[in-house]
Amino acid sequence: MFKNSLTIIKVSGIPIRLHISFLLILPFFAFAIGNNITEIAHMAQVPPDSLALNPYWLGLIIAIFLFISVAMHELSHSLAARSRGIGIKDITLMLLGGVAQLEEDSMPPRDEAIMAIAGPLFSLILGLSLLFILRPLTFDINPDLSLIVYYLGYINIFLALFNLLPAFPSDGGRILRSLIASKTSHLRATQIATFIGKTFAFFFGFVGLLYGQILLVLIAFFIYISANQEYKINQLRDAFSDFTVADLMSEEVIAVKQDITIQELLELMIKEKHTGYPVINEEGELIGCVTMEDTDKIEIKDKERQSIKEIMTCEVITAKPDEPLFDAFIKMSKADIGRLVVMEQGEMVGILTRSDIMKAYKLKSIQQKSMN
Ligand SMILES: [Zn+2]
Repeated sequence: MFKNSLTIIKVSGIPIRLHISFLLILPFFAFAIGNNITEIAHMAQVPPDSLALNPYWLGLIIAIFLFISVAMHELSHSLAARSRGIGIKDITLMLLGGVAQLEEDSMPPRDEAIMAIAGPLFSLILGLSLLFILRPLTFDINPDLSLIVYYLGYINIFLALFNLLPAFPSDGGRILRSLIASKTSHLRATQIATFIGKTFAFFFGFVGLLYGQILLVLIAFFIYISANQEYKINQLRDAFSDFTVADLMSEEVIAVKQDITIQELLELMIKEKHTGYPVINEEGELIGCVTMEDTDKIEIKDKERQSIKEIMTCEVITAKPDEPLFDAFIKMSKADIGRLVVMEQGEMVGILTRSDIMKAYKLKSIQQKSMN
């Protein structure tokens, strides 16, 4: 889902990916920790001059382990989700922590709460174990190691507590939403949780600006944007919930044969005022799609003679007539395409475009007006 990221490792079949923003923040953290190493040493009760490693090397080691901790935090969410029967596509480590990408976009409140608590719970246990079990063992071994273990323990506990703040869509915010959702509707619960999330975002932003804490301002920004996004998705989910693909698709499907020329296609587009068509072969089977964008894709030397077979997109994303409209919408958004071919028992029965989907949104508000 996130572009500009690459898979580094797979844990229990879940790919862990690094986002490019993450590579930028790592040296920043290493530098910031290195700069504050004397204060950290004082906090850890390690005499600063007993440290053997260069402060920035220490910073880098801590930063790397910090991100491993974040990855394990996300992994805990993912494994908890899997234990509730929800599939996980991947985990992406980004600028500000990680994002676990679920295969489903909605889940029962109870499952959401279990999944949300798993991450902070893991961070808390890890932090406490580092501080109170592992650290006493390091006292006599090595001051550098002692400092690293101390700081990682401390920061994991911070991570747990920070994530538990009800600043939706943080973990705490998700727990809060699932609590509210068990009393009212999912949409209403999201509305309330987003409002609280945004209030936190403003508060963090204000404090961050006041004290010149750039990281806090970034976090505030991130919370605000994600809260907004989450809310919009839920609004759409609610608007679409009464509809299936069959309700809004157009049944009149104009399919084009693979051997018509690009010129013929362009003329058809003007005549029918549609910019995309399914492509069929001689036997009438669906083999691809061709859209306006495809005509720009390659250099067309001879549009009178070149057939659309050369420019069409072969991967066709389909939907079923009885599929919930929201699922079709998510399919379209993920693939970043404008239309789905609706298939039933191997037959093309309709076309669903983005504007068809948006009609559902209008219909829903008309429905609400007529009821009031
Ligand atoms: Zn989390």
